[in-house]
Amino acid sequence: MQNESQFNFNKVKYLITEANNICLITHFNPDGDAIGSSLGLYHILVDLGKKVNVVVPNEYPDYLQWLPSNSDVLRYSIEKDIVKEKINTSDLIICLDFNELRRTGILFEILEKNKSKKILIDHHPYPQDIFDVQISDVTVSSTAELVYETALKCEFEKHININSATCLFAGLLTDTVAFNVNCSNPRTFEIAAKLMSYGLNKEDIHRRLFDNFSANRMRLLGYVLSEKLVILPEYCTAYMWLTAEELEEYEFRMGDSEGFVNYSLSIKGIHFAALFMQREDHIKISFRSRGDIPTNKIISSHFSGGGHKNASGGEEYLLSMDETIKKFVSILPLYEDVLNPCNK
Ligand code: 5GP
Ligand code: MN
Repeated sequence: MQNESQFNFNKVKYLITEANNICLITHFNPDGDAIGSSLGLYHILVDLGKKVNVVVPNEYPDYLQWLPSNSDVLRYSIEKDIVKEKINTSDLIICLDFNELRRTGILFEILEKNKSKKILIDHHPYPQDIFDVQISDVTVSSTAELVYETALKCEFEKHININSATCLFAGLLTDTVAFNVNCSNPRTFEIAAKLMSYGLNKEDIHRRLFDNFSANRMRLLGYVLSEKLVILPEYCTAYMWLTAEELEEYEFRMGDSEGFVNYSLSIKGIHFAALFMQREDHIKISFRSRGDIPTNKIISSHFSGGGHKNASGGEEYLLSMDETIKKFVSILPLYEDVLNPCNK
C-alpha cells in the first residue's frame, strides 16, 4: 500500500458499521480480481452480521464459478428487477476493481442516479471523484490485496475466515498472473502468506483458475499463435487478432481468450502486445506491456478504453477489424521512443 495515512479508513469503518444493507458492485465482464475481491469482502461483511448483496453487471467465465458463495452473486443481465431493488434499497454501496461508474456498463444509469453512500476500493489510476471515500491505490497488486489491507485497517481481521481468504487469494493470483506480474512489492507476498494461513488450498485454487480450460480453448490458442501472430521487431511489438468466424469455428466461450495476449510478451525482444477480438458489435482490444510503455494512455488516446500502465483494454465500435489493426500499426511510430529506445 502507498502512504496509507492519506486513506480515510476511519470513515470506511464508520460507513460499514452504520450500514445495514450493503451492495458490493464490480465492473462489466468481471475477472478473477473483480469476483475474488467482491466475494472476499462479502464473507467479511456477512461475518460482521451485515446484510450483503454482491451485484455484477453480466455473467463471468466458468473458471470463476466455484468461489465460496458464488451462487449468491446477482447478475443484472439475468435478474434486472431483483438487482435494481437490491441497489435501490441498500444504504451503502462498495465499488470494487473499477475507477469510474461507466465501467459497470449496463448498471451505469442505476448507479449514477443512486444516492446511497459509496466507497471505492480499487487499484486503477485516475479514479472518478464521486465517492464518499476512496481507497484507491495503484501500487498494490490487486483490489483483493487492498480489501485485505482495508479489513486490517478497519479492525475487521477477526472476521476473515477461510472463505474470504480463498476469494481474496484467487483475486490476488488472477491479477498477478500467478505471481508473474504486479508483485514486486514484498507486501503482496506477506499478504499471500497471511491468506494461506487460513488453511486454503493454494494448488487447488491455482488449478481451478489456470488449468481449467476446454480443449477448444487450447486449440484456439494453438491456432492464434501459429497463424495470427504478427511481429513488428522495429517497435518491439506483437499483435494477434481473431474474427467472429474463427471464434465460432472453435466454439468460443466467454473466458476462452483469457491470457492469450500475454503469450506475445514471452517472445524475446517483445515489450508491447495487442490482441484484437471481434465481438457482436465491436472489436475488443487488449494491450499488455513491460516496463515504461503506458498501454492505458495509448488505448485512451487512440481507441476507447483504459486500465493499468502494463495491462489495459477497450472497445472499438466504429472501425472494422482491418481498420482497427491498420490504425494500431499506424500509431506505433508515435511511441517509438518508449517502444524501442534502441532505435534512436
Ligand atoms: P483485458 O485485456 O483483460 O480485458 O483488460 C485488462 C485491463 O484493462 C482490465 O483489468 C481493466 O483494468 C482494463 N480494461 C479492460 N477493458 C476496459 C474498458 O473497456 N475500459 C476501460 N477503461 N478499461 C478496461
Ligand atoms: Mn484488478
